[in-house]
Amino acid sequence: MSLPLIKNYIDGEWVASDSTTYGDVFNPARGEKIATVAYGTAADVDRAVDAAREAFAYWRETPPLSRARYLFRLKDAFEENFEAIAEVLTTEHGKAIDEARGEVRRMIENVEHATGVTTLMSGYTLEDIAKNIDCYGHRQPMGVFGCIAPYNFPAMVPWWFLPYAVVTGNTFVYKPSEQVPMTQTRIMEIVDEVGFPEGVINMVHGSRDVVNAMLEHPDIEGISFVGSTPTARHIYRKCGETGKRVQSLGGAKNIVAVMPDADLAQGMPSLLTSFFGCTGQRCLSGSVLVPVGDMADRLVAQFTAAAETVRVGDGLDEQTFMGPLISAAHRDRVLGYIEKGIAEGADLVLDGRGVKVDGYPDGFFVGPTVFDNVTPDMTIAKEEIFGPVVSIVRAADMDAVVDLINTRQFANAACIYTASGAAAREFKYRVKPTMIGVNIGIAAPMSFFPFGGAGNSMFGDIKGHGQESFLFYTDMKVVIERWY
Ligand code: NAD
Repeated sequence: MSLPLIKNYIDGEWVASDSTTYGDVFNPARGEKIATVAYGTAADVDRAVDAAREAFAYWRETPPLSRARYLFRLKDAFEENFEAIAEVLTTEHGKAIDEARGEVRRMIENVEHATGVTTLMSGYTLEDIAKNIDCYGHRQPMGVFGCIAPYNFPAMVPWWFLPYAVVTGNTFVYKPSEQVPMTQTRIMEIVDEVGFPEGVINMVHGSRDVVNAMLEHPDIEGISFVGSTPTARHIYRKCGETGKRVQSLGGAKNIVAVMPDADLAQGMPSLLTSFFGCTGQRCLSGSVLVPVGDMADRLVAQFTAAAETVRVGDGLDEQTFMGPLISAAHRDRVLGYIEKGIAEGADLVLDGRGVKVDGYPDGFFVGPTVFDNVTPDMTIAKEEIFGPVVSIVRAADMDAVVDLINTRQFANAACIYTASGAAAREFKYRVKPTMIGVNIGIAAPMSFFPFGGAGNSMFGDIKGHGQESFLFYTDMKVVIERWY
């Protein structure tokens, strides 16, 4: 049986790429191919950017409130198709269906926030900056923006950017991850039904060739990127060379500290979600668990016991807590890190390597895995594993926690569990990561706050969503005016 071939969406039409290079899309719980995606070419990117450039002339003159009305309609259409989007997401990505629902909710919240354009895009004015001279600054859209997305949030990540780019009057070309192209294809069918003017929103599928064509394209004003650190750095460099505005979000290695006074009974559910939710494939996942002082033995015992109860399975099964990893290659990479942890002398207290899921012999599963007595110099304490592998590094006190966090190359998120306001304040004051959780295991800012880290977790200065988005997608024109 031939598999569905995923198409690009350009200038309001579904079009096949003329590429001759294809990739497979899998259902990772079953290890089965479910679709084929063409890896688009520079010609596809040219077509999409031409359409977006032409649409910009009309779209930028459409009043902001009229542009926002498209988003209101889109929000309603997304609500109507909520379950259908979540289902295709879980099918191609593997995450538990409830996590998929949470992701779709976050996607919609960005659409909702962007409708505040008439307030959030406003500029400012000052009379009499000199005798009889007034000054005002207003925000203008810039043209065509591009976005390149990772595989781990197939629905949400492009929508951290798209609603803000288009509501401010820009047009948009984006590339979903080639590993999960079906979710955005379903979403784009809904965009098509809502009837945005042709060329305002365009989607080109593919891999590096599409990305590199976008980076080189003279008519793309700026790029929003999310993915691993090596790619994020490449995007940032390239945009510097070609003079594009850029926000480039990279990888992570998040540390979760548990102070001696933390309430473990209250905290355990969110600790489990932090480390094993999305099968650890989340830039905000806990990766290193740090019990402080005499919390260590209690935490290791209780956390490991709780981790043993995590139910691994097909994400479409409502009872599943943790789905498979995205691919066989990524599963092997995660297994490689487990081998490395053992070889470097950490204590494997829970081994997820042999996990079996009844009825799913070919799924890309790895079970919850916990290492105790990890030291800060071990590979599993330093590198992003992006799987359900927890490295426990015991720390004597707050200074040791802060030192551990601030010597990692990544600085995305950090969390603390404590009953002490003073300890929480010291933690959030001293650590370098810029998304902080206090008795919260996943420090995920909502759409109306900025999203992004520091260090090697983010290149560029304007973060994703929040009010900052309105800065990223506009240029302020300052007018100094005198009338005789
Ligand atoms: P990735 O870097 O492999 O791919 C991301 C995108 O870049 C994809 O669309 C891919 O096609 C493209 N790409 C990959 N290699 C490229 C290259 N050499 N040249 C040009 N384009 C290239 O990342 P991924 O594996 O899809 O996603 C997981 C990573 O994303 C993790 O490191 C995770 O931490 C990170 N992430 C970060 C955030 C954040 O907010 N900081 C959010 C989600 C995911």
